[in-house]
Amino acid sequence: MQLEWMWKLQELDLSIVALSGEMEESPLHQEVRAAAADLAALKEELAQAEEALQERRKKLRSLEMNIQKLTSDREELRRRMYGRAVASPRELEQMEKKLTSLEKDLESREDEALELMETIEKMDLQRNELVRRAGEQEELLAAKEEQLEAALARLRADLEQLQEQRRVVEAKLEPQFLERYRIMSQRHQGRGLAAVEGDICGGCGVFISSKQKDLLYNPRAMVYCENCGRLLVKRAPEE
Ligand SMILES: [Zn+2]
Repeated sequence: MQLEWMWKLQELDLSIVALSGEMEESPLHQEVRAAAADLAALKEELAQAEEALQERRKKLRSLEMNIQKLTSDREELRRRMYGRAVASPRELEQMEKKLTSLEKDLESREDEALELMETIEKMDLQRNELVRRAGEQEELLAAKEEQLEAALARLRADLEQLQEQRRVVEAKLEPQFLERYRIMSQRHQGRGLAAVEGDICGGCGVFISSKQKDLLYNPRAMVYCENCGRLLVKRAPEE
């Protein structure tokens, strides 16, 4: 019976190792990481878009001030030209030249401002699209995190159950058998016990000798595979 409990303990330990691995290697970890990276990239893109937009708006404001200044200069010049204070035709000619230049300047500034406004409008739409996408990505990330947490919670519950079973089985083992189990498990990477089925060692696949076969009928005998050194456990065929 002690060998049976040792076998049961090995099966539980193998299940615990497999389950722990499943928790660590859940593909959901990778999905959460990927969603977080995508969100970070979107936020970075959004920050850059905001910065570029601010820059263009600043430029537009200074352009508008420039236009205002040119407009008032033009008004001032017109007042002087058509007022009574004009001294000579030569002076008037110079003023006309200046007016033409001012108007040309003003027109080009206004074209520039119009173009900039269109650019800002487009950039604003792109920025809003990025805000929308970042919002969606945040929701996706939250959903993935929730999925991962739920999956881990299920696995943790399974793991606790296995550990509880393990405690029960461990308590049934006499100290020297438990110690043997530990040694054998360590020596064979968690598979220190091998089931014998059809006279074959389940650990290495080699036929066991007839001498060992006879020894296996003694429930308290420790019989080791002559090939791989594992502790042999006789299993009934239906198990
Ligand atoms: Zn073997």
